[in-house]
Amino acid sequence: AWQRVKRRLRAELGEDVFASWFARLELQDVSGGVARLTVPTRFLKSWIESHYLDRVLATFRSEADGIESLEVGVRGAMAPARPGPASVVKPAPRPAASPGPAVDIPEPERAARGSAPEGELGGAPLDARLTFESFVVGRSNALAHAAAERVARHDGGPALYNPLYFHAGVGLGKTHLLHGIGHAVKNAGRRVIYLTADRFMYGFVNALKTQSALAFKEKLRAIDVLILDDVQFIQGRSIQAEFGHTLNALIDAGRQVVVAADRPPTELEALDERVRSRLAGGLVVEIGTLDEALRASILQSRLEAVRATHPTFEVGPAVAEYVAKAITANGRDLEGAVNRLLAHATLTGAPVTLDTAETAIRDLVKNREPKRVKIEDIQKLVASRYNVSRSDILSERRTAAVVKPRQIAMYLSKVLTLRSLPEIGRRFGGRDHTTVLHAVRKIEKAIGEDTALCDEVELLKRMLQD
Ligand code: ADP
Ligand code: MG
Repeated sequence: AWQRVKRRLRAELGEDVFASWFARLELQDVSGGVARLTVPTRFLKSWIESHYLDRVLATFRSEADGIESLEVGVRGAMAPARPGPASVVKPAPRPAASPGPAVDIPEPERAARGSAPEGELGGAPLDARLTFESFVVGRSNALAHAAAERVARHDGGPALYNPLYFHAGVGLGKTHLLHGIGHAVKNAGRRVIYLTADRFMYGFVNALKTQSALAFKEKLRAIDVLILDDVQFIQGRSIQAEFGHTLNALIDAGRQVVVAADRPPTELEALDERVRSRLAGGLVVEIGTLDEALRASILQSRLEAVRATHPTFEVGPAVAEYVAKAITANGRDLEGAVNRLLAHATLTGAPVTLDTAETAIRDLVKNREPKRVKIEDIQKLVASRYNVSRSDILSERRTAAVVKPRQIAMYLSKVLTLRSLPEIGRRFGGRDHTTVLHAVRKIEKAIGEDTALCDEVELLKRMLQD
C-alpha cells in the first residue's frame, strides 16, 4: 500500500515536487493506527509536516484501512528505519528550472510528467471531517467563520466578498474553514472546486502540456465557487499570470473565489503587484492564534470525535486542561496530542494520567512559539560559521567566500523574521529587494538539491531559535 501511496503522490504532485520532498520519505511501521514515516533530515520533516501531512494522510487512508494518523521522524534520530530497497533511493536530480515548491518558474515541458486524472482538474477531495459543524468558533476565528458561512450559504446574485481571503499561520484552521465552505456549497447543489496551489499549478502545467489549457480554463470558469488553498505557493511567471487571469475572469463574472494563505496578500512576494491588489480587493480576514478557551473546546471536540470510534478512550478533565494549556501553537498539534494519548491508551490499556500525558506530548510542548530572531544575530552567527566578518556580509564584496554566507543570511532573515524583502535589503548594506529575492530563491533551490547544505541551514536555524 505504501508503494501505491508514493506512486499516487508522484502522479498528483508531479515529478519535481515529489523528488524534492517525498523521494526519501519512507514508511517505518504501522501500529495502533499510527503510521510512522521517516525522512533523513529535520528540515524535510518540518517541511512535510507543515505542508503535506494532510495530503499524505488522505492518500494513505484511501489506500489502506485503519490508518488514523501519521508521525514523521528523522532517520537516525530515532529507532532506525528498517532498511529496504526504497530507503536508499536518492532523489532524482532536479532540472535547472524545476518547479520546486518554493522556487523558480515551472516549465510546462518539464513538470508533472506523471499526470493524474486530478491533473485534469477534478479538484482535490474534501475531507469529510472538516465541516462547519466540526469547526469550533472562538474569538480569534469568529470573523473568518462568519464570513465563510455567509459566502457558503449565499446563493444567487453576484458574490459577496470577492475574493474572500483568509490568512493565518500553520494549523489555525484555514484549510478546515475552506473545506467547510466546500461541503456547504456542494450540499446546496452548487458547483465548487477546491484546489491547493500545487494542484492548481500542476493542473495548469499539465493542461498546457496536453494542449488542453483552454478546456482547463473553461472548466474553471464553469463553476460557482473556486476555493484555493495555500496560494503562497503559487509562483512561476506563466502560472501566476494564469492565476491572475483566472481570478479576474471569475470575479468579473460574479463567481465566488475563496483563498487562503499563510500571509496577507501584500506579502505574497512571488505574485505580480496587480494580482496581489486583486486578492486584497475583497474581504481579507486574519485568523488569530488560538486562545486557551478555544484550544480547550477544539480539544474536547477532537476527543469526542475519537470516542465515536474508540468508546473506551477516556481523558479526564485534569489531563485535558493540561493539554490545552501546554499545546499553544496550533490546532494541528492539538490533534497530534490527541492521537498520542489515544495510541498510548490503546497500546497500554491503561488510563491516561497526567504523568503519561506529559511524557506523550513532551516534544509537542517543547517546540511551541518559535523565538523571534533578529537580523543582526543571523548576520553574526552566519559570519562566524563561515569565517568572515559581519561587515564582509554587509559589504559590496563579491568573492564566493562572502557571497554564499551573505545569501544564506538573507535566506534565514526571510524565513526566520517577519521582515519584508525591502527591509531585509536595507539591513544588508542597503541592497535592493530583488537582490534579496534572488538570494532567497537560490538558497531554497540549493537546499533542495544538496543534503549537506540543507542540514547546515537547518542547524543554523536551530541555533538561532533555541
Ligand atoms: P491550516 O490550514 O491553517 O494550517 P488546518 O485547517 O489544517 O490549519 O487545521 C489544523 C488542524 O486543527 C485540523 O485538524 C483542524 O481540524 C484543527 N482545527 C484548527 N482550527 C480549528 C477549529 N476552530 N475548530 C476545530 N478544529 C480546528
Ligand atoms: Mg492548510
